[in-house]
Amino acid sequence: MIQGTPHGPQCESRSLDHGTDILGAVLLRMSTLFLRTLREDPADAEVPSHRLLVRAGYVRRVAPGGYAWLPLGQVVYDRIEAIVKEEMDRMGAQQVHFPALLPREYYEATNRWTEYGPDLFRLKDRKGADYLLGPTHEELFTLMVKGEYSSYKDFPVILYQIQTKYRDEPRPRAGILRGREFVMKDSYSFDLDDAGLQASYDKHRDAYIRTFDRLGLRYVIVSAVSGAMGGSHSEEFIAPSPSGEDTFVACHACGYAANTEAVQVRAQAASDPFAHPPLREVDTPGTPTIESLVALLAGQGLAVTAADTLKNVVLKTRLPGEDDWTPVVVGVPGDREVDLRRVAASLAPAEVEIFEAEDFAAHPGLVRGYIGPQALRVLGVRYLVDPRVAQGTSWVTGANAVDRHAVHVVAGRDFEVDGYVEAAEVRAGDPCPVCGDGLSIDRGIEVGHIFQLGRKYADAFELDALGPDAKPIRITMGSYGIGVSRAMAVIAEQCHDAKGLVWPRAVAPADVHVVATGKDDTVFVAADELADQLVVRGVRVLLDDRRGVSPGVKFNDSELIGVPTIVVVGRGLASGVVEVKDRATGERTEVPVEAAAGHLADLCRQG
Ligand code: ATP
Ligand code: MG
Repeated sequence: MIQGTPHGPQCESRSLDHGTDILGAVLLRMSTLFLRTLREDPADAEVPSHRLLVRAGYVRRVAPGGYAWLPLGQVVYDRIEAIVKEEMDRMGAQQVHFPALLPREYYEATNRWTEYGPDLFRLKDRKGADYLLGPTHEELFTLMVKGEYSSYKDFPVILYQIQTKYRDEPRPRAGILRGREFVMKDSYSFDLDDAGLQASYDKHRDAYIRTFDRLGLRYVIVSAVSGAMGGSHSEEFIAPSPSGEDTFVACHACGYAANTEAVQVRAQAASDPFAHPPLREVDTPGTPTIESLVALLAGQGLAVTAADTLKNVVLKTRLPGEDDWTPVVVGVPGDREVDLRRVAASLAPAEVEIFEAEDFAAHPGLVRGYIGPQALRVLGVRYLVDPRVAQGTSWVTGANAVDRHAVHVVAGRDFEVDGYVEAAEVRAGDPCPVCGDGLSIDRGIEVGHIFQLGRKYADAFELDALGPDAKPIRITMGSYGIGVSRAMAVIAEQCHDAKGLVWPRAVAPADVHVVATGKDDTVFVAADELADQLVVRGVRVLLDDRRGVSPGVKFNDSELIGVPTIVVVGRGLASGVVEVKDRATGERTEVPVEAAAGHLADLCRQG
């Protein structure tokens, strides 16, 4: 099932009973806590989570895409990791751990040493041997299972690790959202047959739903494979967020939801290519853009729209291990842009880049702004088209000479295509590939990915189990990831306001932030007592017991840090009350000081 409706509550606080209080009740005293909040936003922060996690003293930048966790950050991180671990254990997965530093040979066997391209951190040891820092560990897990298991009776098995991964991301970004060093929970399932793989996949899907629900995330499960009926071979858990780099489509009529890269345009029916008037070239001075062309043709009495024109964009591709780039022309209806990410996803593992001015200079046959597919066969350049450019469709397009265009250029008559490619941008309102209703488009951040690998890795390493008839059975695998460190940024991204973070209780650095204000010793004594009573009741407390810090600074800090419940022990004490404030709603209530601990413990238990 592909799900188009968002799951999960927003900024929901979870009760202490929901899962155990994994890390135990603690008291953090701000007078000694290794914490300095910042008044100013860090200069390099582009998105709210980055800005707030740095300002509130959760993380500090060490390198591009490399961050240190300060104590508060470590607490939140540990809580997230514990939830991920609990849900993996609950589904029966077993935890192992691999080194991140790995010899080249394992990744050579699957060609990923080369295929991974520039994202792979490669290094040499003192003897000159090649090593890499693991970006993901399919190879190692496959070999581990091969080493230990041999009989069909051993299977199925699911193994996981929570481990630091390294990827030399082209654009590390937004703090811990996209690191070059980050923590991933990666698991791998090993089954004897397809039904087993489907069962392991479904278990992961359920475990991920539980995990992300507990983390208080809003998310959508989207199909990550092409094809209208892509089904569940690969799905991503995307947290909707304006800061996200992923775009996904959803159909509110039938529930289809897919990563934009995976959306497959419905192929158009082929028609007779010889039913059109003959190709005719026309002079079109000064028309390198579609708009200028449409305007000029209108002046000549030719009523065409941008959608009737065929836009031909030159790109270059390079297969893993190749040194040279090869030009390829991509044809899309002229009213659409080419979406490079969709092209790259379609042509993976080849790299795809824009054809630059110097590339055009090296290929004079490709006349920039006036390219028509009529000439591409002769030039020996591959021509890939959007599925809308079906056999028998007629187009206005370039005539391969400056200031010249051609009309009635028909697919299958005047040019041939070398293949279809999902290259055109997807737009809100485009027809759903399943039911035809209008699609919506949103941005989000990928927090999890579940993927049926099949036998690719088992084939590479000949991972077999001996069957009951003593014949070998090739194992089929799944691979499943959660961005554990990223999840913290994603929660922050969804759960904050103008004043600071608003953690869901399940991951908050504390349940209650007790703020002592004023100069009077009695206030500090009362705050201390309240904190102790709370800890005894299993409540995790952050206590602002700093002397000589103004109430204003303390209030601002409490809002920035984002503990779900804030208790002010101050002026009200004289009349026997403390103020309890809900960080998310801002709602305040006065509670008699002697009843406060019980009241707060109940509050935390209710969520
Ligand atoms: P993205 O499209 O965001 O680069 P990906 O497709 O490369 O993600 P996977 O290889 O499926 O991601 O990795 C599994 C999970 O690890 C992702 O769902 C994501 O949550 C997390 N992840 C991937 N790359 C990073 C990164 N650079 N920093 C932090 N987390 C990451
Ligand atoms: Mg990636």
